[in-house]
Amino acid sequence: MNTSELKSKARELGADLIGIAPRYRWVDWPAQSNPLSIMPACQSVIVVGRKILRGAFRGIEEGTNFSSTYHHYGYSWNEFTFLSRLIYNLAAAIETEGSEAVPMSGGTPKGENTTSGNGGIASNVRLDSKVLAHAAGLGSIGKGGFFLTKQYGHRQRFGLILTDLELKGDEILNLDLCKDCNACIKACPLQAYSLNQEQTWHLNSKICASCTNGQCGGVELSGEPLDRLASACGRACMVALEDKIEEKFHSKFRKRAVWQRDSMGKATLIPMTEEDK
Ligand code: SF4
Ligand code: SF4
Repeated sequence: MNTSELKSKARELGADLIGIAPRYRWVDWPAQSNPLSIMPACQSVIVVGRKILRGAFRGIEEGTNFSSTYHHYGYSWNEFTFLSRLIYNLAAAIETEGSEAVPMSGGTPKGENTTSGNGGIASNVRLDSKVLAHAAGLGSIGKGGFFLTKQYGHRQRFGLILTDLELKGDEILNLDLCKDCNACIKACPLQAYSLNQEQTWHLNSKICASCTNGQCGGVELSGEPLDRLASACGRACMVALEDKIEEKFHSKFRKRAVWQRDSMGKATLIPMTEEDK
């Protein structure tokens, strides 16, 4: 199977995004984050993305339904049913043609904390799907910590396949959709972002973990273990990027005043700005 056949197969199986990170890009990474620690013969990392429907955010945006819109169709079923099935079937198609393929979720919890590892190479390995998605040419991590693509902004989830198949790598895409935008930072009612000494934004994940503005908890197996995509920060990013990304809609995402909750859970409404309309 060559690169173009692999990509066609992935699209046929339902992939919205696919990129290849070839071995030379990550071969020298630290053992704790290196694909070779999991698959010593790995030649290519295939990063597969499925978009999250804009409609899956609607219940949280309106403050009316969290579970059967975002939590199911945006998060758990999207990642652990639809995307996992796609990753499995694509890996199976690779193995049918004689190469080995390791299917992995976008989030890869650390392995056993031993000192032996694989031939003494490493233990406690955790691959970072966002860093690998960048190495596969799919986009870049934005100021607010979200992985952004030119197709969907932050609205996608990733899964990985490690394989000994040699595939042509995609060019790195240094996407700068943020520029002078600070929408995610301004939208956080709990001031979880702060500027550090390097003048980059640091996120206080402890504050986020207790946030009730649409943050979704998440699990380690997810590419977004602290899932903020539908929280006040993430939805502000959708609004900020809707004219800049490729997938367009007939109407704006934001329809009315935005609800938000403070650290005590007290809700207030923030009127829409001219920019939102
Ligand atoms: S998850 Fe909540 S606390 Fe964290 S940055 Fe987003 S809005 Fe702020
Ligand atoms: S809201 Fe703006 S600054 Fe924040 S991640 Fe999105 S594009 Fe970047």
